[in-house]
Amino acid sequence: MALSNMMKHYLTVKERYPDCIIFYRLGDFYEMFFEDAVEASKVLDLTLTGRDCGLEERAPMCGVPFHASENYIAKLVENGYKVAICEQLTDAKPGKELVVRDVVRVVTPGTVIDETMLDKEKNNYIVAINIKSKQSNIEAGVAYCDLSTGEFIFEELDGQFSSVLEQLDGVLTRISPSEIYCNENEIQTLESLTILKNKSIGYVGKYSNETYSKEETENLLKTQFGEDCFENSLKSGTIGARASGILVDYLRSTQKRGLEHINEIKHASEKFIMHLDITTRKNLELTETIREHKKRGSLLSVLDNTSTCMGGRMFRNWICSPLLNEGEINNRLDAIENIISNIIVREEIKRCLSKVSDIERIAGRIAYGNFNPKDALALKQTAGQLPQLKNLLQGYTAKKLKGFYEELDELLDVFNLLEATISENAPALLRDGDIIKEGFDKNLDEYRNSKQLANQWLSDLETKERELTGIKNLRIAYNKVFGYFIEVNKSQIANVPYRYQRKQTVANNERYITEDLKIIEEKVESAKENAIKLELEIFNQIRSFLLENLKRIQKVAKVIAELDCLLSGAITAVKNNYCKPKINNRIKHIKIQAGRHPVVEQINKNETFVPNDTFLNDGSDKSMIITGPNMAGKSTYMRQVALIVLMAHVGLYVPATSAEISITDRIFTRIGASDDVAFGQSTFMVEMVEVANILNNATNKSLALLDEIGRGTSTFDGLSIAWAVMEHISQNLNMKTLFSTHYHELTELEGVLEGVKNYRITVKEFNDEVIFLRKIVRGGANKSFGVAVAKLAGLPQNVITRAKEISKNLEDSEIKRQITEKNLSSNANYEENLNVNRNVVGILKDLDINKITPLSAFEILADLIEKAK
Ligand code: ADP
Ligand code: MG
Repeated sequence: MALSNMMKHYLTVKERYPDCIIFYRLGDFYEMFFEDAVEASKVLDLTLTGRDCGLEERAPMCGVPFHASENYIAKLVENGYKVAICEQLTDAKPGKELVVRDVVRVVTPGTVIDETMLDKEKNNYIVAINIKSKQSNIEAGVAYCDLSTGEFIFEELDGQFSSVLEQLDGVLTRISPSEIYCNENEIQTLESLTILKNKSIGYVGKYSNETYSKEETENLLKTQFGEDCFENSLKSGTIGARASGILVDYLRSTQKRGLEHINEIKHASEKFIMHLDITTRKNLELTETIREHKKRGSLLSVLDNTSTCMGGRMFRNWICSPLLNEGEINNRLDAIENIISNIIVREEIKRCLSKVSDIERIAGRIAYGNFNPKDALALKQTAGQLPQLKNLLQGYTAKKLKGFYEELDELLDVFNLLEATISENAPALLRDGDIIKEGFDKNLDEYRNSKQLANQWLSDLETKERELTGIKNLRIAYNKVFGYFIEVNKSQIANVPYRYQRKQTVANNERYITEDLKIIEEKVESAKENAIKLELEIFNQIRSFLLENLKRIQKVAKVIAELDCLLSGAITAVKNNYCKPKINNRIKHIKIQAGRHPVVEQINKNETFVPNDTFLNDGSDKSMIITGPNMAGKSTYMRQVALIVLMAHVGLYVPATSAEISITDRIFTRIGASDDVAFGQSTFMVEMVEVANILNNATNKSLALLDEIGRGTSTFDGLSIAWAVMEHISQNLNMKTLFSTHYHELTELEGVLEGVKNYRITVKEFNDEVIFLRKIVRGGANKSFGVAVAKLAGLPQNVITRAKEISKNLEDSEIKRQITEKNLSSNANYEENLNVNRNVVGILKDLDINKITPLSAFEILADLIEKAK
């Protein structure tokens, strides 16, 4: 049996797009066939039918109406599919040749542009990665783009295998892409990254390295970014250029259009951005809470007071990428200070910004081709704000704000053109017409006039026919199927003249047309068509003008976004009573006076937040060991220090009365006994892997939060490991550390290890109850108040009484004895223990966590424990 021509064509399309579901346009439907149909029918809940196509069995098939396709495409893409849209490019007319069809666009998670599928608060990045490994070294080019805004950035990583992987994990975690495209021979390397194990990426595609030649990719870069694109940070022949070229190729071949809004390639480097690994981002709840994954309750939700979409997206990126460059940090801080100094100007700017639309994405749509009349109105309104905005910026003295004043283009020509052309009530859809204002184009006005004239003719004709026939309730009406007609009530049929031609019979009426009516109808229709055609033409001219001026619009969007972020910084600082931190390379300590947790103080309204001081340096006060009962506020305190340090690096004011912050290259946070069942690893194993990661990657400029590390195992193991870790940090790493623990034994380390200081969060006992004072003071706690806290939590009285009894008995028993024996700092045992500890540390130090299996990790651990005992 022979395949039909259409099916033959379908199969060639499928062959070209094997990894896509093909939406094959047939009339008013997109049809899917074979396995595509089987899979899509499940995901989209469609009925699976069959089609005779010349094969022995009917081909499985399902379809969706083309006008409702957007939702179906969105659903498939959300479920990790790519969709290739194969359109009908010629009209289907009877007797004509086969309709020409071809793929006009491939929709993938990283390349969606429909507004409904995008989050306006977030960039949607697609990343191309090119990895080249040689022995223990590795090079990676990373290029990422937000197709909706045109932002395009590349980075280059190279060095030791584990360090590059760490950095790559960092980049991907920071930008959280929805799609990755990587060379297939290194796909396993990629899959070992934490972010990929987390399965939070919509689609991971691969390509063969051979597909792309150097010449081809670099020519493509020149076409996209201009002949001079290799004159700045991007260099020909580098891995960064390779990844970028591959990404441009992927974007062009999926979108099949010029993408003029992607016209600037920027370089980013991990050297200038504070490295935060995925665990730390989660623990610090930067953009979403740990438990509910909600923005509410996150740092971002408290700090974000931006007014525009592009500002919101940029602010989110700011929070995710604290800076290491003291100049840029202080430029931001100075700008915020400048904005704070004048409340009236601040309010005025905010008013202006509240009328600004998402012109960054509108610029994307101008280039993409789906720019619509509503966008034009939004762009006009935005451009209308610019002269006033520029005026408001004039008085500022801070470097950044002065720069904005100079850079800000008022887009007067854009405003004037849109003001002159686009009607205030223009609809969103182009095909509806009524877009262009009256008075802009003579011909258009004439067509519209003839439409109105025709209405006059129609009503004249109606009057005339009534008189001629004597039928009083004769009327001329219109419907979409039959066009214009004369309607006569059935009781009057006898009076209908011969020149009336019957068209349709309805319940009580007969409908007719006449020669006169036909002529008018034709005139009306052609005037309508001509008007819409002309409107489209004019609208396209407007779009071309905007396209020519796209870079100017994009630049305005950038200035506004950044201004909005700084304004938000000022608004939040005033509202929440923050102070300007001192931060630069000369400061070697972290000194915070009356610091507060930015989120807890806003969210927990039941309790007034108690501020606390912090002092850490790289000598006498490197590590704080923090003890105190459960619920005292240890975790809150440690996070507050990390968040203040982080905010200062973003260039924001901080919740404290004063703060001096040393430039910090990384923040680590680890929380004991955090359960991560999804990873398929035991709690304790996860904890140890994370601690190993810190010990391997920290530098003397890092800050680490270790919150009750060692809790996932028995007391003595936990204590020993915590002890060894503290010792290692103190002796070898020189980073600043906050270490909370319920092992009071660890307070013995003060005086033994250099730079370790004990702190405790105070509570007061009162009639067997604990009162939390939330104040941190020097010295260790000597009691854990566990039973008292249990009482507070509402455990039954008999359980509490019994617990106290047991606790009392235990104090003199085995455990107590062991603890005394284990008192690692007691003089007799000290030397011996120190040796053991060094031994343990030595083993830990030599471990490369990336190179051991979970099984051998357990063995090593068992050995460590043995030694520690
Ligand atoms: P811990 O880690 O010591 O068990 P947390 O840090 O989890 O205690 O604190 C428990 C609760 O106490 C927090 O959820 C918070 O609501 C409150 N809290 C902590 N620190 C303070 C503070 N300085 N002022 C007011 N409330 C606080
Ligand atoms: Mg805690």
